Amino acid sequence: MYKCPTDANYRGYADMHEAMVAQSLLATISTEAKKYDAKPIAATISCGTLYAINDEALSFAFEVLAKGTTCENLKLEIQHKPLQGRCRKCNRTFEFEITDPTCTNCRSDDFELLPDAPLMLDEIEFESE
Ligand SMILES: [Zn+2]
Repeated sequence: MYKCPTDANYRGYADMHEAMVAQSLLATISTEAKKYDAKPIAATISCGTLYAINDEALSFAFEVLAKGTTCENLKLEIQHKPLQGRCRKCNRTFEFEITDPTCTNCRSDDFELLPDAPLMLDEIEFESE
């Protein structure tokens, strides 16, 4: 088994329906599979908090679209990245908690929110021969 990191970037797909995200994921993974001439068995994607991707809806859409393709039975893992803030006092970057909107280092509430993480295809795992 080997892994191949990809830099496919899905920025801008934020307000697409899960089915459209699944379709573009499937297209990218299929292209990679052809390139490596291997069957993909798992893929990891990550997205920021504001994308609000519904894991189940995306997995289901992918499963339906992948039926009969090389990506059939592929396991899709979705990681949600937290929002980050940068403190204006101590200049540190920290994970923003909606329930505790202060710098985790110095407790200041003078900070800026950093842009949300884009939807990314992080990794595809292929079956070894
Ligand atoms: Zn601070």
